[in-house]
Amino acid sequence: MKKHLLAALALALGVVLGLYALSLPTPLAAEGTGVADAAPAGGFSARRAFGDIEAIARAPHAVWDQASLVPVRAYIRERLTALGLEVTTTRYPPVTDKFGRSYPLENLGASLPGTSGSSLLLVSHYDSSPKKRAAEQDGSRGAADDGYGVSTMLEIARVLVASKEPRVNGVRFLFTDAEETGLLGARAELQQNLAAYRDVNFVVNLEARGVKGPAVMFETGTGNLATLQLYEAARRPFAYSFAVDVYRRMPNGTDFTWFVRSGFAGLNFAVLDDLSYYHTPRDEPANVSLASLQHYGEQALPVVQAYARDARYAGKGVFASTQDMVYFSWLPGVFVAWPGEWDAAFAALLAAACGVWARRELAAGRATPGASLRWLGVWLGGALASLAVGLGVSLAAAKLMGLEWKLTYLPNVPHERLVTWALVLGVWGAAYALAGRVARDPARRAGDRSPLLGAIGLQLLLLAVVHAALPGGTFLFSAPLLVALLALVAADLAKRPWLALLGVVFAASLYLPVLHLFSLALTLGALGGVLLLAALPAALAAALACDRGAAEPAGGAGAAG
Ligand SMILES: [Zn+2]
Repeated sequence: MKKHLLAALALALGVVLGLYALSLPTPLAAEGTGVADAAPAGGFSARRAFGDIEAIARAPHAVWDQASLVPVRAYIRERLTALGLEVTTTRYPPVTDKFGRSYPLENLGASLPGTSGSSLLLVSHYDSSPKKRAAEQDGSRGAADDGYGVSTMLEIARVLVASKEPRVNGVRFLFTDAEETGLLGARAELQQNLAAYRDVNFVVNLEARGVKGPAVMFETGTGNLATLQLYEAARRPFAYSFAVDVYRRMPNGTDFTWFVRSGFAGLNFAVLDDLSYYHTPRDEPANVSLASLQHYGEQALPVVQAYARDARYAGKGVFASTQDMVYFSWLPGVFVAWPGEWDAAFAALLAAACGVWARRELAAGRATPGASLRWLGVWLGGALASLAVGLGVSLAAAKLMGLEWKLTYLPNVPHERLVTWALVLGVWGAAYALAGRVARDPARRAGDRSPLLGAIGLQLLLLAVVHAALPGGTFLFSAPLLVALLALVAADLAKRPWLALLGVVFAASLYLPVLHLFSLALTLGALGGVLLLAALPAALAAALACDRGAAEPAGGAGAAG
């Protein structure tokens, strides 16, 4: 009983830490307003930026109603002019979008030059979405999409102008037209006006897919090693390297897509929560999150400032790299990153350490090779069963709702979150029950570590597969495995088996935000993938939770290690 309680406590602690990782900064008021939560001098104020969202999102402003764009452009021009910036308007003759409608394009630009001749370009789109596909509705006011981007850029412009700090590198602003109907404004700039971006060597795109939650840095240019080094300037970095790999395989696009195609380095941010507001009239000022807006600023502003003040970032090609970083956010402000080039060596070292540990366990008679292999099969089978259950539930949900089933787009299924988390908990519970059978069954040996060896073997196997197929995802297996191994060694050395539960705490805290983002981004259509992803660490966590430590004599012979 005490054992179950401790395991439940470890899981609960992991969940709390995982939720903490998803927590957002306090939205700050304008500095000098005297209130307790005022931004520091030169800081980003979401409360002030929100004024821009209110102004832009007064009414829907989609390109199919050209007149509705006029006040939005006028507002952006007015704000930039008031800050002392010169606004350039680049017009393009009418284009026909993929829906068969034609209209001219008008992109707005501004610049705060530096002395080096190199510039960072901030990009957001000022049009809002018309109804384009199922589950979308006419009349989105674009408060989040892309009011977050536009207002963040205006607030950054204000901070930079007010700071009077000399800039080595310049900062430029591009507000694009017709993003929602096919990235047309950005495409026009890069296909017809590329020379105007010769000075730009870094792009920060600010987007939204949903209205709240963390502003996730979900995409980079190709070869993001140097890009990530600049991103580490962000105050609350929130990013997972597998997102870049996944996104590169998805059909979705933002303005940033055109910049990546044109070879630019940079970062792309978006909130992902919640899709039921996305491209609907509910995307209005009342539904945006000031905390999310602050989170855009906490990340983008320090990156822009670090870029502007550092001569290292001047020049063509300084962000060029042939390799990507592997990275993940853990707690707020805790960002772990290493070059992809180290990953193979890291995995090999980890495998060697696991091998040494496993040999010791086998020699001590606390596990057998046969039973460990069988357990590897059991854990893998459990993961595949979870995949099947998730797939089945999402297919059934699509049928019940009368929606076309799509792996990456099955939005607005009622209670989708409840269903997802209940099933994730079910997967973890089932894994725990499975591992617990060994501990309880008198016919099997108490202190048998075969389930643990099997789970570790599975992690190593997955690490190898993911390293080859989705290199940004290796941390999902290497980090929990490293923590588990350290926790086990500590537990054995200190003769305190409960220390192994630290591995459970870490796995849960790492996976909770990952599973959350994964299910938000891909919707219930990907429930199978979510449950598969939940089952993989569940095997390790369950085996750790049921472990009785090396101190306890194994039931059979060879207990003396
Ligand atoms: Zn958008």
